[in-house]
Amino acid sequence: MIYNRVALIGLGLIASSMAHAMRRDGLAGEITGTARSAETREIARELGFCDHIFETAAETVKDADLIVLAVPVGAMEAVAKEIAPHLAPGATVTDVGSVKGAVIEAVQPQIPEGVHFVPGHPLAGTEHSGPRSGFAELFDNRWNILTPTEDTDPVAVAKLRSLWEGMGANVDEMDPDHHDLVLSVTSHCPHLIAYTMVGVADDLRRVTDSEVIKYSAAGFRDFTRIAASDPTMWRDVFLTNKDATLEILGRFTEELFALQRAIRTGDGDHLHAYFTRTRAIRRGIIEAGQDTDEPNFGRGKTR
Ligand code: NAP
Repeated sequence: MIYNRVALIGLGLIASSMAHAMRRDGLAGEITGTARSAETREIARELGFCDHIFETAAETVKDADLIVLAVPVGAMEAVAKEIAPHLAPGATVTDVGSVKGAVIEAVQPQIPEGVHFVPGHPLAGTEHSGPRSGFAELFDNRWNILTPTEDTDPVAVAKLRSLWEGMGANVDEMDPDHHDLVLSVTSHCPHLIAYTMVGVADDLRRVTDSEVIKYSAAGFRDFTRIAASDPTMWRDVFLTNKDATLEILGRFTEELFALQRAIRTGDGDHLHAYFTRTRAIRRGIIEAGQDTDEPNFGRGKTR
């Protein structure tokens, strides 16, 4: 057991998966939880992944030695303010938000003296949300990035690291701004591009109604999966990781124009060289054990 009492604020995909994983691996003495809506609290009670579900965040964090903020990035500040007066001295507060700079700015000032704040982000998720979508294996062999500052207590960081490792994750530490730039490339901008592509298909009504769905091939289908991700979570990601997103989108647009030009001028060498380079990146991801090489991502046969 690593923590005696873990309090989960927000009971969606990430928090419920943490509860399942902590139980699987015996990492927490007791797990308490709360969510904004009575409906989510009721579902969590029914599923039973927490020992106690409370109506208020104040009751939930009482005597907890680890508090996990697992709400959308835009809600972190309000939640941190609400729990602050009820935190036990020596406790650690962490978060799982997809953006780090903005969360640190919003949460750190709320944390009372004697309580540690160790920001974090598990690089694991699905397009599903809510308490029913969690599962114990979500973090297995996935990365969790912790972004402590120079002032963060190393003992608190080490303890949180062992919790994530216990839940199956690999842990890295990173500067928050660097995290936000890296994630902008690997997650945030790809989501925006998927949203755009699905939006474009939807605009072309004459194909959408039947053909886009009926003939949905690997490329578009993968976009639709990503574009089904939670609208609140992703709205907050783009509102709070503004600078890095705009920087990467600027570069993306330049590359897109270069490809557009190569297509217009019939520059096959440019296209071939570009696609050869990107194929090597895919191989690197598979070799790093971060995806499967099975056809169609292991989802069975394509039609
Ligand atoms: P989720 O399944 O949608 O769950 C979000 C939880 O937060 C729900 O319990 C919800 O309560 C609560 N909530 C929503 N708005 C709130 C507000 N304004 N005030 C208080 N509580 C609020 O989300 P998730 O996927 O677990 O994501 C949680 C965090 O993890 C986010 O910060 C996200 O950026 C991060 N994250 C997500 C992924 C992913 O792929 N999904 C991956 C890594 C990190 P109700 O159910 O009662 O509305």
